[in-house]
Amino acid sequence: MTFDELGLPEAVLRAVREKGYDTPSPIQAKAIPLVLDGHDLMAAAQTGTGKTAGFTLPMLAQLDSGQPAASRRPRALVLTPTRELAAQVNDSVVQYGKFLKLKSAVVFGGVKINPQIAKLRHGVDILVATPGRLLDHVSQRTLDLSAVEILVLDEADRMLDMGFIRDIRKILALLPDNKQTLFFSATFSKDIKKLANELL
Ligand code: AMP
Repeated sequence: MTFDELGLPEAVLRAVREKGYDTPSPIQAKAIPLVLDGHDLMAAAQTGTGKTAGFTLPMLAQLDSGQPAASRRPRALVLTPTRELAAQVNDSVVQYGKFLKLKSAVVFGGVKINPQIAKLRHGVDILVATPGRLLDHVSQRTLDLSAVEILVLDEADRMLDMGFIRDIRKILALLPDNKQTLFFSATFSKDIKKLANELL
């Protein structure tokens, strides 16, 4: 199996080649065609499996074929439990998306909110966020989640462990029903399965 057989657009394949990857990891080989076909996805994946590219590459491909984002209305939302992971995922989005016109931003707490507000106002296609700061933006009306086409929950088990379940439910209630949902968790406890069942 090579990356060229997965159905990704040339601009995305170019970025993958620049990273020096030659073979898709198992999760990438399975996830990428499913996501490109518009399916929801639930995957058990630890860090180190290549899961980030597994959702980022097809997400970029999906978004590339649509209209650019309007001010404050991202088209894809990636939720992560920590700032570190949010920053890492956004770095991946920037690298894999370097030959596309899509814009991304990352928002998390503990840093000034004004630069984030300015970015959101300019319009971002992909927003990577931790739950608390995301809801701060919603309540300040600097962010509108009603145009989200793709939702990614990364490390969902850690988000539950960190007590984010109420925030996550609030966020889910603000998203359109017809979005595509990609759900990643290292473990599948009863609570995780319940959340996944509600979502997918
Ligand atoms: P992740 O599991 O998403 O945190 O990725 C783990 C590491 O694997 C990252 O440093 C990626 O750059 C790298 N990686 C992802 N996909 C591939 C691939 N197909 N071939 C080689 N390295 C990869």
